[in-house]
Amino acid sequence: MKQIDGKEIYRLPAHAYIQRVLYFAVTTLIVIGGTMIAIGEFVASPLDALYALPITLLIIALGVNTGYHMYFSHHSFDAVPAFKYLLAYLGSITCQDSIAQWVSNHKRHHRHTDSVDLDPHTPRQFGDNKWVMLTLGLAWSTFGWKFSRTSTSKAYYSKELLRDPVIDWFDKNYVVVSYSGFVIPFVIGYVAGGMELAIKWFAYFGAFRVFSGYFFTEFVVNGLCHSIGTSKFKTKGQPMNLGRISWLTLGTTLHHNHHAFPRALSPAIDGEWDPMNIVYVLLEKMGAISNCRAPSSEDVELKKLEVSESDNMEHPRLLHE
Ligand SMILES: [Zn+2]
Ligand SMILES: [Zn+2]
Repeated sequence: MKQIDGKEIYRLPAHAYIQRVLYFAVTTLIVIGGTMIAIGEFVASPLDALYALPITLLIIALGVNTGYHMYFSHHSFDAVPAFKYLLAYLGSITCQDSIAQWVSNHKRHHRHTDSVDLDPHTPRQFGDNKWVMLTLGLAWSTFGWKFSRTSTSKAYYSKELLRDPVIDWFDKNYVVVSYSGFVIPFVIGYVAGGMELAIKWFAYFGAFRVFSGYFFTEFVVNGLCHSIGTSKFKTKGQPMNLGRISWLTLGTTLHHNHHAFPRALSPAIDGEWDPMNIVYVLLEKMGAISNCRAPSSEDVELKKLEVSESDNMEHPRLLHE
């Protein structure tokens, strides 16, 4: 593993590594168990999905994409403090990492996109052969990299973020905060309707929510969107769009667009549709967010022009939608 001045990445000490693996293992057990209960409930009473799925998807989208990703990693909009800390909480309960660790890993991903040595989760880790990427590579992007002894330095990438004492508190107390995302739906369910509803809401809004967020972030975006799809701008590495399913993933699979314009709040910058834009308009009207960044159509067209024939020949896309 290449080291860069020993600053960006470092080898985790044994106790920190064991803690990290234990957290991942215990969380996986809770999430898989709860998700199986949720699927059983959905099959038994499909109407439950009508209220549970939209709420679950919105919490994931706000927590991971709007919060951890677009606000804390890319500063794509301004937020009032109450909404900023709500986003920090919703991001933490997705159990994907503490806020500063997630942001640091993501900044490293953008800085070293698809570099085998330095991108924390590229599916090209074992080579560019499409079948290797779509098997071993996807397994690495989805969960393999969680077992790496190499970690991203929060001091290097997230110093500014941790200057905020509330964010620092969220980061330091990540385990307790993240597990509150299982406990709170259980308690509210118990108060509202006894043990049966408690288990159901833990399964829907705790376990299934974390499973879906993990699936969309790690498997679909970090894995698939760096393996297959389409592209139109010049970018570092080979991030791609899966435009046909972007409505289902609330815009996140316009991932190539995101790498080309990382500060744009919505990746639907070239005529695509992103359902989250409706949410952002509402949040702006409520005064929770402001100054949403978006590139001008001239900037978008200019970036398209940067793609030359030679670039396309150099990096042939492996599969297309
Ligand atoms: Zn990416
Ligand atoms: Zn990003």
